[in-house]
Amino acid sequence: MNANLAQILDSAAEAHGDRVAMVVEGGETATFAEFARRAGAVAAWLGECGVVPGDRVALRLPNGPGYLAAYFGALRAGAIVVPLNPLLAPPEVAHRVEASGARVVIGDEPLPEPSGSAAAMAERAPGDAAVLLYTSGTTGAAKGAVLTHAGLRDAARNAASVLAYAPSDVILGAAPFSHVLGQSAGMNAAVLAGARIAVPGRFDPPRALAEMARTGTTVLLGVPAMCVGLTAAARESVVRPPLRIAHIGGAPLPAEVGAAFEACFGCPIHEGYGLTELSGMAAAQPVGRLRVTGSVGVPVGGVEMRLRAADGSMCPPEAVGEVQFRGGTVIPGYWRDDAATRAAIDRHGWLSTGDLGRVDTAGNLFLVDRTKEVIIRGGYNVYPREVEEALYAHPDVREAAVIGVPHETLGEEVAAFVVLEPGATPDADALRAFAAERVAAYKYPRRIMYCESLPKSPTGKVLKRALRELT
Ligand code: AMP
Repeated sequence: MNANLAQILDSAAEAHGDRVAMVVEGGETATFAEFARRAGAVAAWLGECGVVPGDRVALRLPNGPGYLAAYFGALRAGAIVVPLNPLLAPPEVAHRVEASGARVVIGDEPLPEPSGSAAAMAERAPGDAAVLLYTSGTTGAAKGAVLTHAGLRDAARNAASVLAYAPSDVILGAAPFSHVLGQSAGMNAAVLAGARIAVPGRFDPPRALAEMARTGTTVLLGVPAMCVGLTAAARESVVRPPLRIAHIGGAPLPAEVGAAFEACFGCPIHEGYGLTELSGMAAAQPVGRLRVTGSVGVPVGGVEMRLRAADGSMCPPEAVGEVQFRGGTVIPGYWRDDAATRAAIDRHGWLSTGDLGRVDTAGNLFLVDRTKEVIIRGGYNVYPREVEEALYAHPDVREAAVIGVPHETLGEEVAAFVVLEPGATPDADALRAFAAERVAAYKYPRRIMYCESLPKSPTGKVLKRALRELT
């Protein structure tokens, strides 16, 4: 049986043909049937360009109709899609194009118009590569994760199911389709469920807020930074979209940020934990299950999870260890990089995530931090995330990021970068004292540095590497 992921678009066109699949800020819309025709035209055109199944086709496109058509068109042709975030710098693009051996790069130029002949759906096996998704590289060089047709289909099904997507939903398409969150839980899951995607222009919170209300957005899919921006924008406006759920992931969600958002929008946040290497969500708080604040939920269908202690033993409940996953949505490996594959996935199929977590007795996963971010101050482990939480609790703090900086006697010292709310005055002594009341004496930040904004990756992750360079 053909496992080509592009079939989900054909199925949506059959079931929901003349319903609008996407609206874009500015008014452009397209139906599922139009998208199926456009994808057919892209596939035919790629065939004329000499692209054969297994060839790599890179997409350097912003979220929008062109992305969806090119993605499903390339898959239809049997090609392996290489998504490139349009915000990547030229050397980053060059590295990904070269390493993937992409034959074609589809950029912002107009795509071929549908004509009489749509290309046939190429035969693909479940384990064939569908997408090479380069990891964000917050800790090292980006690696090309191989996402399969079956893995991506399962990931889309998981997202649509845990977030209870229905054809009546309008899903915010602000998370980049070139990243696993926007692609898998956004674009693919929406197509699978016959739901509509509403793509805002540049993510400017006041504009996005107005646009979400105009399009009747019911699902916010995004990263914590979007919650911060939207909550601030909502303080200046009475406009509210009819949100039923916010699925937030990709980076730690400080409790204060989540609570302020929920109070402002009257909409529950269901936190989730996603990874490129899991083709999308790894764990989430499904609709209909009791939400536990601070937890990223339970593993999604079809994946097993375990926590491994530093000595290699398995962690009992509540003990902190590295989170590992195994199952159908776990990637088979990295593109043409056996060493990286062996370092990440053991011979029994367990993927090491590099994330530290703990699981409570009810099976809820709490992420503690990344293994590489842990600060060791005078022999004590300090999880930056916990210190960040303490700083976020201060009303003047809009954003905070904590890192370790070298220290002569302690090895490392705890340092914090802080972005203040507009109008607040910096007072490092007061903020230090505030944090010292909330975390142990060895954890509170001795150094506090104020800045205008935090450096972030195109997908909204704070770039701690860049912060280290500033110290
Ligand atoms: P990426 O493959 O670029 O999506 O990055 C995956 C990484 O993002 C994970 O390994 C985590 O470190 C981080 N991450 C994803 N979701 C969350 C979350 N809800 N809370 C904290 N970190 C997260």
